[in-house]
Amino acid sequence: MPPAAPERSDFIRDIVAADVAARRVETAITRFPPEPNGYLHIGHAKSICLNFGIAGEFGGRCHLRFDDTNPVKEEQEYIDAIERDVRWLGFDWGAHLYHASDYFEQLYDWAVHLVRNGDAYVDDLSADEIREHRGTLTEPGRDSPWRDRPIVESLDLFARMRAGEFPNGARVLRAKIDMASPNINLRDPVLYRILHATHPRTGDAWRIYPTYDMAHGQSDAIEGVTHSICTLEFEAHRPLYDWLVEHLPVPSRPRQYEFARLNLTHTVLSKRLLLRLVTEGHVRGWDDPRMPTISGLRRRGFPAEGIRDFATEIGVTKADTVVEIGQLEHAVRDVLNRVAPRRFGVLDPLKLVIENYPAGQVEEMDVVNNPEDPSAGSRTVAFGRELWIERDDFLEEPPPKFFRLAPGREVRLRAAYFITCREVIKDAAGRVIELRCTYDPATRGGDSPDGRRPKATLHWVSAAHAVPAEVRLYEHLFTPPDPGADGRDLLADLNPDSETVVTGARLEPSLASAPVGEPVQFERLGYFCADPDSRPGALVFNRTLTLKDTWAKLQAKA
Ligand code: ATP
Ligand code: MG
Repeated sequence: MPPAAPERSDFIRDIVAADVAARRVETAITRFPPEPNGYLHIGHAKSICLNFGIAGEFGGRCHLRFDDTNPVKEEQEYIDAIERDVRWLGFDWGAHLYHASDYFEQLYDWAVHLVRNGDAYVDDLSADEIREHRGTLTEPGRDSPWRDRPIVESLDLFARMRAGEFPNGARVLRAKIDMASPNINLRDPVLYRILHATHPRTGDAWRIYPTYDMAHGQSDAIEGVTHSICTLEFEAHRPLYDWLVEHLPVPSRPRQYEFARLNLTHTVLSKRLLLRLVTEGHVRGWDDPRMPTISGLRRRGFPAEGIRDFATEIGVTKADTVVEIGQLEHAVRDVLNRVAPRRFGVLDPLKLVIENYPAGQVEEMDVVNNPEDPSAGSRTVAFGRELWIERDDFLEEPPPKFFRLAPGREVRLRAAYFITCREVIKDAAGRVIELRCTYDPATRGGDSPDGRRPKATLHWVSAAHAVPAEVRLYEHLFTPPDPGADGRDLLADLNPDSETVVTGARLEPSLASAPVGEPVQFERLGYFCADPDSRPGALVFNRTLTLKDTWAKLQAKA
């Protein structure tokens, strides 16, 4: 069966399609190769969607391969989180879960192969000396004095490096390529270094570990990867990738292709910097709802579908650009608007008493769950004499364009009744603490038989039935669009208002059992979801996004 034509094209999909058409490859075999030294972020999501997307479209497969060659920085916690996050994004590697560490024995044999052929040597220079010999972009490097040591000597030393005879940094294995190459990656790159460190998978079996360059392409070749897709910073490594594949008896010939990494405004996408935010306590952890990590976005309430849509919309190119974070939020709002049931929640409650409503009476009001989705049906919400409304829906002295509640004014309580404010009660400090109102019993359900149309419709909850909750309001983690740019201290760019904790919110009772992470819209306020910190009797909700879509507005103007 011919592979289905991809829905959207880009230069990488074009290459894959041409390779399949010309029968250079049978199908597309790709891989997503995270290093388990941190949590995945939205940039990784772009790469995941690309690699798994292509494999799916061409009827091939995508491997999840842990690039676990640096035991010093890698942890099981990260491995588990990465698997969870890729699955949550909606992708499945099936039986194809691999680790570069699965290939350590094979990689070692191939390193020995290079030494035997005179293509690699053990170098006794220190890391600093190697750097000094490397030259610069404008000057060639210099040969190491150990470059031409006898092959047998390198073989012996390499075996003893493996056996753990030498301390960290005492020696390295280097490819013997060209110290004068204009490409610094070809100036006898390091292939193995000594690291006395326990590896999460291989334990203490190894005292030497391969470098990225030694491990990556060879892992691709072992797995039969056809298109090894990575970000542009590896473009200059491609000649080395190809050199190694050519100089080793590898079972297949993978090819590397590079695309531009994702950059987002108001965001840092570097695991090093994200780790710093976590370890220095500037956020609640890797999954803090303000973090651009997949687990943070999930906790915040971003649906996987919205993240996948975003990846499709930004496409894949070789041009280095910075994407507006508003574009991600726009894609997420599109999904939430479709799927999130509407609920009533009051963040800053103001008591409203309906004087002519019988004390003790409760009516179950029928409220539509989602006007965008008739199949979502409706629910009942209890209504009574005492309600909570949003404090900023009332002003004692309303300016001209304020149409919400004010003394003497009539507004609609959504799906309930029209009410008119009759009296304002204040505390000793002059702060409004209660509104005394009347309702019109003829307006049940929110419609008036005489065609009266109040200019505002407010959300509300019944004071006798509402459940209290903590609500965490989130804004961008960084104030400027380009955090840490122009030599500024990254921490100085943190947004001091990125999290606001609201403690006295009142929610409609159905929200007491809202499953963690499941999106809801608090009418008029935004999209929210229950946080994992939420407990029965101590509910915690996160604001995913407000309803205001500034990106869509900008697009409409452009
Ligand atoms: P960081 O720079 O944050 O440390 P990394 O590139 O070192 O990330 P890896 O675990 O090596 O992290 O990345 C796995 C894959 O994800 C690689 O193929 C890498 O090219 C890709 N990737 C990483 N960051 C981005 C990004 N911002 N946009 C697109 N792809 C990315
Ligand atoms: Mg990397």
